[in-house]
Amino acid sequence: MPINYDDNTYEVLRDRERCINCRVCERQCANLVHKYSAELSRMTADCMSCVDCQRCVSLCPTRALKIIKNPNVYRENANWNSAAIKSIYKQAGSGGVLLSSMGTPEPYPVYWDKILINASQVTNPSIDPLREPMETRVSLGHISQDIERDASGRLVNTVKQTLSLDVPIMFSAMSYGSISYNAHKSLAKAAEKLGIYYNTGEGGLHKDFYGYGKNTIVQVASGRFGVFKDYLDAGAAIEIKMGQGAKPGIGGHLPGEKIVEDVSKTRMIPMGTDAISPAPHHDIYSIEDLRQLVFSLKEATNYLKPVIVKIAAVHNVAAIASGIARSGADIIAIDGFRGGTGAAPTRIRDNVGIPIELALAEVDERLRREGIRNDVSLVVGGSIRNSADIVKAVALGADAVYIATGALLALGCHLCRSCHLGKCNWGIATQNPELVKRLNPEVGSERLVNLITAWKHEIEEMMGGMGINSIEALKGNRLMLRGVGLSQKELDILGIKHAGE
Ligand code: SF4
Ligand code: SF4
Repeated sequence: MPINYDDNTYEVLRDRERCINCRVCERQCANLVHKYSAELSRMTADCMSCVDCQRCVSLCPTRALKIIKNPNVYRENANWNSAAIKSIYKQAGSGGVLLSSMGTPEPYPVYWDKILINASQVTNPSIDPLREPMETRVSLGHISQDIERDASGRLVNTVKQTLSLDVPIMFSAMSYGSISYNAHKSLAKAAEKLGIYYNTGEGGLHKDFYGYGKNTIVQVASGRFGVFKDYLDAGAAIEIKMGQGAKPGIGGHLPGEKIVEDVSKTRMIPMGTDAISPAPHHDIYSIEDLRQLVFSLKEATNYLKPVIVKIAAVHNVAAIASGIARSGADIIAIDGFRGGTGAAPTRIRDNVGIPIELALAEVDERLRREGIRNDVSLVVGGSIRNSADIVKAVALGADAVYIATGALLALGCHLCRSCHLGKCNWGIATQNPELVKRLNPEVGSERLVNLITAWKHEIEEMMGGMGINSIEALKGNRLMLRGVGLSQKELDILGIKHAGE
């Protein structure tokens, strides 16, 4: 008898009293977990295929289902825990790199949770955001510090290309191909309604979405998928992707199954072929090379669009950012270690990079020290989970944040971390037409608008509590933050005092 080494992480529990054999769970599960047995006259489950996406649990009309972690345990071992053992079994069976998706689930410190926000009391009164105007609008791009006048003494407009956001939040890069048409449409519609931006990722721009161009950031990544003149012209800004927080130092890989007809047309690659973007841009080996691409893209678009350079948060991120600021880029986007992705080698995702909080503090500090902070805007992403994280990011020096996992959760994602399998039961990370239909872009965009509107209210409340009525006044205002349970080294890097000081 062959030994079964398969992963059996989840157990499907079905309450026989409640189950009415309606087979909804069977129809909803793309992983084929549920099956009706005519012989037994009841539903059965293949727990081995369950990824715990919770679709069946959410739609079971009688609440008969529960997915639990399989209580079966290997003999206790602090060093060789179950996950470590299962990885060995998997790789011994496949000989392949372990793949996973979304951000790392490993328990690295989340510095946002170790930072607290200030509030005014008595002497510096707080502001009531329901009665007083609060300004959450930001502009991203180069801010000129000099007032220039022409020969006749008239002020010269020195403002370069900027992006204007009603609230300092943007939807981060998620490519068409890694996520579905309806997920993209939800993001595009919501960005338009909210007066913010969504990002094409490296998959090109579907022709149906050109109408959302003024709220679109078009990305140029190392694979150059879908990049051509109309694409560059279509967006409000162009982002050069050098790195990604979930997989710093490596390229992208979209499996051939996800390259369906529309995705292939948009990416300009043959159907069914793996879309592999190389780890480096093959024309960029220095800041000078980067500068050439920045200016090529500006030249190609008549100097009308700001250029963003996106990097992963890595050990020497401050020095890298300093170089990028001098490359002519208008905005630097930094993607932190805990950032999500559609597919990444598990070992890279869980072990490479640094947390965004530390990277942001270091970069802001270095750019200020070098007197070039106003030459660029800083956008950070990689595990922004709520409005408080955003307030803390702005106070640490960010001009705005990118969110992606949070946006997908708003669309219904249940963080099962199986996007790379292409069978997302929530219609998000899939190109299967039957699954894509499950996400209604009208409902999706409305939920995204609700989320960002709610966060905007909360940001205003926190700003009001600090006695601040403009997000600009919060930017880099680290006096508004205090650390709890952090070492002196961590406090020094974050540039904040400990609570009580
Ligand atoms: S959806 Fe619920 S009630 Fe219907 S078959 Fe599945 S477990 Fe039974
Ligand atoms: S997008 Fe879909 S497949 Fe990916 S984690 Fe969310 S629910 Fe799972």
